[in-house]
Amino acid sequence: RAKARGKGTFHLFERDLEITQRTRRELEADLKLALQRDEFELHYQPLTSLRDGRVVGFEALLRWRSPTRGFVTPAEFIPVAEATGMIVAIGRFALMAACREAARWPGQIRVAVNISPIQFRTSEFLRDIAAALQATGLEPGRLEIEITESVFLDKTAITMANLHELRSRGIRIALDDFGTGYSSLSYLAKFPVDKIKIDRSFVRDIDGEDGNLAVIEAILAIAQKLSIAVTAEGVETAEQAQVLRVRNCSDIQGFLISPARPAAEIPGLIERVPEDFHRLFPAPPRSE
Ligand code: C2E
Ligand code: MG
Ligand code: MG
Ligand code: MG
Repeated sequence: RAKARGKGTFHLFERDLEITQRTRRELEADLKLALQRDEFELHYQPLTSLRDGRVVGFEALLRWRSPTRGFVTPAEFIPVAEATGMIVAIGRFALMAACREAARWPGQIRVAVNISPIQFRTSEFLRDIAAALQATGLEPGRLEIEITESVFLDKTAITMANLHELRSRGIRIALDDFGTGYSSLSYLAKFPVDKIKIDRSFVRDIDGEDGNLAVIEAILAIAQKLSIAVTAEGVETAEQAQVLRVRNCSDIQGFLISPARPAAEIPGLIERVPEDFHRLFPAPPRSE
């Protein structure tokens, strides 16, 4: 198409492509070094019970501090890590670091770790999980793995076997970004799932005219029937939290409560979050 618009456009297009490819190669090279140079760290975002405001868990979210690029977000480097296969080693690091951190937390507070479909499908995945639990002493019931619906799309038999194996070891399974992918409600009945995470795109427009509230209500209804917990992602306002709370959503995660913070801030969050919550919602929820 660029060619049809004339020579000048064509050259410009080619140069853009060249720059894009070079940028991409440089990012790959830096990413390769990042792991051995220990430039990744995990930040933790609280999941807060809508029933009593307690912190029930934290989601571990990767952060890359590059000495040359500064702070690189997962949206930029995860796709490259997946395309090159580096996500397997990075994901293994995240799993180990998250379990090590969570083993120090009080009570039954859980840690949720994101698992790329690529990592999930490797033959070492179950061993990696066992190794992380073994090395850190974390109880399996305090580990929740977050997968997306895309893992259901192929190698269904292996996926099913892996999920049942994780379940039988007491590890919890959460479906991340629910509603955005190739969602099919039949997955919920077929695969062992402990939790659904409603994607933040539905929460963002919860009070809009475009039916997002209806979608959320339908997800909450089916989850309740199947005894699946529901976390709403991306909750930024008290109004959104209230809408979810009166509809018996289990817990919320979002900037209203806190963004992901470094591990050192976790004890402070465990104390502060319930206080803030009770200021926001002094009365227990009533059903409408
Ligand atoms: P996700 O698993 O859906 O994580 C939630 C994302 O939403 C996080 O972005 C979080 O910072 C952001 N978020 C939380 N609350 C709010 C809010 O109220 N408003 C808005 N606008 N955003 C909110 P983050 O940390 O940039 O991570 C992006 C994605 O990268 C994650 O989405 C996950 O898919 C992936 N990711 C992060 N860490 C890992 C990891 O260790 N392994 C793998 N495979 N993927 C990871
Ligand atoms: Mg997640
Ligand atoms: Mg998510
Ligand atoms: Mg999401």
